[in-house]
Amino acid sequence: MADCIFCGIVAGDIPATKVAEDERTVAFMDINPATRGHALVIPKRHATDLLEISPEDLAACAQMAQRVAQKAKDALGADGVNLINSCGPDAWQTVFHFHLHVIPRYKGDPLKLPWVPGPGDMDEIKAAGEALAA
Ligand code: 5GP
Ligand code: ZN
Repeated sequence: MADCIFCGIVAGDIPATKVAEDERTVAFMDINPATRGHALVIPKRHATDLLEISPEDLAACAQMAQRVAQKAKDALGADGVNLINSCGPDAWQTVFHFHLHVIPRYKGDPLKLPWVPGPGDMDEIKAAGEALAA
């Protein structure tokens, strides 16, 4: 879909640190990470939100999120994971291409939800992305 950032990432027109991909989905690093390893899972086919995505793509995104969550534990040493979806502006959705946030949690980390997004260190994001992709 024209003017959609995440469709641009799927198409390869907008750079992203991708960590996994399958037939229906792509997982890549969030540029404003809430914690180390914060990733997003999106369907390749554009859908605005939770209410618009097809059941098949939703299931595929959930499975990809499970795979990334397992990686967060195995490769980054996460102690837990928050899986978050925001549906609609009043639920804090800011990018209108469905996505699941996979947010690794570390014992005692200071994160309070909902988080206030702030720019991450790109080298650190890339390093965490490489660990998740390995
Ligand atoms: P939402 O607020 O819709 O739940 O989440 C959108 C997420 O997309 C935010 O966490 C934001 O940091 C992330 N984001 C926005 N633009 C880009 C981008 O160009 N690249 C990447 N990798 N993430 C983005
Ligand atoms: Zn899109």
